[in-house]
Amino acid sequence: MQAMMFVGPESLVLQEMGKPQCENTGILVKVEACGICGSDIRNYHTGLRGDVKEQIMGHEIAGIVEEVGDSVSSFSVGDYVAIAPDVSCGRCVYCQEGLVNLCTDHRMIGTHWPGGFAQYIHLNDTILTRGMVHHMPEGLGFQEATIAEPAASVLAAQANAEVSLGDTVVIIGDGPIGCLHVEIARARGASRVIMAGLDRLALAAQFEPDYIIDAAHQDPVKEVLRITNGFGADVVITANSVAETQAQAVEMARKRGKVVLFGGLPKNKPMTILNSNLIHYRELEVIGSFSYPASMHRMALELIADGKIQAGKYITKTVPLKDVALGIAHAKAGKVLKAIVTPWA
Ligand SMILES: [Zn+2]
Ligand SMILES: [Zn+2]
Repeated sequence: MQAMMFVGPESLVLQEMGKPQCENTGILVKVEACGICGSDIRNYHTGLRGDVKEQIMGHEIAGIVEEVGDSVSSFSVGDYVAIAPDVSCGRCVYCQEGLVNLCTDHRMIGTHWPGGFAQYIHLNDTILTRGMVHHMPEGLGFQEATIAEPAASVLAAQANAEVSLGDTVVIIGDGPIGCLHVEIARARGASRVIMAGLDRLALAAQFEPDYIIDAAHQDPVKEVLRITNGFGADVVITANSVAETQAQAVEMARKRGKVVLFGGLPKNKPMTILNSNLIHYRELEVIGSFSYPASMHRMALELIADGKIQAGKYITKTVPLKDVALGIAHAKAGKVLKAIVTPWA
């Protein structure tokens, strides 16, 4: 089979290798589509987590079960499956509390095991029992199914922040994650969704936020206060990796409002400065959010199948396996919302 191997920062090599052996307790999946994630872009430039030197990246995966180990009963040859990368240990304190995303031994497909930028992927017993492999709802396309992975993390964040009926929600960030936040905030009943962004606002506009703030020419804090008659937003979500916008988020939240720091900051520049008096006097809640439980990945697949998440609108580019680096470059340059790798194209 062919696979795109990460061999070091900014270095990907297309390799011909044997089809992975299907273990007795695993399944082999023919990869039909694998999304390029923001974390793939980051890892491509700075290296993989946990000092992993070489690996097949890619973790937003959909495909067809090609082989099934003798002792596996939950999958059959020909099943359509969507795969999310997180694998938890099932034993640590957080796993026991059901907070598998906070597992102390959290591992990922595409880092700790070979990922989806390949024609086949093997899912071993650990991944099948402690990871997130779901049957795709009937009628859903493979490319659309890959959107369930980023959508799951957005669903989890908004569940944590309890975005609800009648809320005014501000999303800072106009990439695919920002757009997912717009759709999901609306699905949860938000009455006003405001998006602030820079270069992808034209693409993001198709998700029809109620207000669009062009942060290059407008002050997002002033605009949100103007739109809300000085009141501020119920929930502000930062869906980018810019520290300055985290500070703005605190300034535009209403009293008792919530600020969700969804996007992480660069590893080498993780510090942020927030006005702590606003947090104090306005009784703001600043909430972190990372990953999701498997139930959110399954829910995301259903929301996509129902059209509540318009997955097709995100996919603005597909690339063959040999052009993963090109897809990464396009996504990084903000030319596309979501680029998808189709390994058999
Ligand atoms: Zn992802
Ligand atoms: Zn654990």
